[in-house]
Amino acid sequence: MFTQYVLEYGVGELEPHIDELTMVTHYTKHHGAYTNNLNAAVEKVPEISNWSIEKLLANLESIEDDTIRTAIRNNGGGFYNHNLYFSILSPEGKHAPDGPLAERIAKDFGSFDQLKDTMTASAMGRFGSGWAWLVVKHDKVLDIVSTPNQDNPLMDNSGAKPILGIDVWEHAYYLKYKNLRGDYIKAFWNVVDWNKVSNLYMRATT
Ligand code: MN
Repeated sequence: MFTQYVLEYGVGELEPHIDELTMVTHYTKHHGAYTNNLNAAVEKVPEISNWSIEKLLANLESIEDDTIRTAIRNNGGGFYNHNLYFSILSPEGKHAPDGPLAERIAKDFGSFDQLKDTMTASAMGRFGSGWAWLVVKHDKVLDIVSTPNQDNPLMDNSGAKPILGIDVWEHAYYLKYKNLRGDYIKAFWNVVDWNKVSNLYMRATT
């Protein structure tokens, strides 16, 4: 039984960057539905019932039934992706990385601003619904990738671990920003807690 990440901040606390109605709808309706649908799909396959979400997403091909595999891909992806998304946001987080993550960013991207620019471009370039990710690759190098729909970097079995994700589905921004995805992404950077991203980086590299 998978349970939805519990928000550590109020749904209105990311205002004005992410508005309360978007947060309520996104967390309660979208993330809630992915979680319920994932649990319903997993229940139908007893042999995978005790798998972690990471194991499920990295081994989708082992689920024989096409309908159940697709349901777990979409809803398991949605469950995992939103757990990550909501967990790295904060109204009063650290605005820039420091320590080992900052050093790694300087090495792989040149600067923190360059990382944000590159990830913004990746998120802007995603046609339709999907995500842009900051990942730690198997060789510990940072990289930016984009995936469609609710797919994520765990699904290609490359060993890359996501530590930050930008949701660019219209449901993540349309109520406030309408068609202006770029304005949402710009605002998104204001509520990323780099302390939380650093913790995920440390976990992915040790
Ligand atoms: Mn979403």
